[in-house]
Amino acid sequence: IAALALTACGRADTGTSSGTSGATGGFAQDSAIGVALPKKTSENWVLAEKLFNDGLTSAGFKPTVQFANNGVAEQQNQISAMIAKGAKVVIVGALDGSQLGTQLQQAKDAGATIIAYDRLLLNTANVDYYVAYDNFKVGVLQGQALLDGMKAKKPAGPYNIELLAGSPDDANAKVFFDGAMSVLKPKIDDGTLKVLSGQTTFEKAVTQDWKAENAQRRMDTLLTGSYGAQSLDGVLSPNDTLARAVITSVKAAGKPIPVVTGQDSEVESVKSIIAGEQYSTINKDTRKLVEHAIVMVKDLQAGKKPEVNDDKSYNNTVKTVPAFLLPPVIVTAANVKTAYVDDPVLGPLTK
Ligand code: BGC
Repeated sequence: IAALALTACGRADTGTSSGTSGATGGFAQDSAIGVALPKKTSENWVLAEKLFNDGLTSAGFKPTVQFANNGVAEQQNQISAMIAKGAKVVIVGALDGSQLGTQLQQAKDAGATIIAYDRLLLNTANVDYYVAYDNFKVGVLQGQALLDGMKAKKPAGPYNIELLAGSPDDANAKVFFDGAMSVLKPKIDDGTLKVLSGQTTFEKAVTQDWKAENAQRRMDTLLTGSYGAQSLDGVLSPNDTLARAVITSVKAAGKPIPVVTGQDSEVESVKSIIAGEQYSTINKDTRKLVEHAIVMVKDLQAGKKPEVNDDKSYNNTVKTVPAFLLPPVIVTAANVKTAYVDDPVLGPLTK
């Protein structure tokens, strides 16, 4: 994977590390900490809000955790206000990672440390750390699951597939897609996979705002346009919300459910996997991700340099951001009973 040098907005194996510019002087235990989250487009973000509030408060900090459900300008204003309140660390899950340059400069000028959470902050030197599940790996696992699922149903190709991507303003969407295409593209090129709509680029595949209705509408059109007589074997879906929209569309068209991938381990999708409808999801435990972001805050508070485990993969066009990456795990019917044993919500559900 690391050998794949992807340019802007993604993984780039530049082999260099810019080092860390995060504050090392430490700060008061009861300092203000800002957490700017994007829109509530999936369950993980809603859970993150609660976990950041609880975790930072119990560590003694004064958190401000806010969503930007009304768009980029709202998130820009929220970050400026966090800085004005004296936040020592600003954790950002960007709605649009390339639109926060001014606010991140304000944060830097005020001496705050900036942590990109889940989504990378793009085109800026003012991001000190990145904490996320490895997004490229998520895409690779989705692409592989799609192939495996189709093979299990029908041992020999060719297979007809369609491709969905996430919202184009989310820096992760392109990385997920590129990861999946690193597996699927060679198979499209050798004829094992056919995309009857011809829509194989990220730009054609995107789903604005990660909205289910946008995915469903596109799927309806694809089915009518290209699958009147032909069968559809698989759909690459970047997350669970969109996977369920695909399944709704296919059912409405009276077609058999194809192999559909997902991500986030949303409750309805985990149930769908158990029921044999959605094929796969990805387990990216939000509790671990938030916990790690808070460990970074605690280190900074104590004047220590936060630990990173990757200093070469996530380039934002200006710098390669020192990252702490957690490993995503693929979940299908084969391991759904064991994947969530320590999850308070999904554990009981999958017993
Ligand atoms: C997250 C995904 C999520 C998507 C939509 C992404 O940035 O990494 O887990 O499905 O946002 O909310």
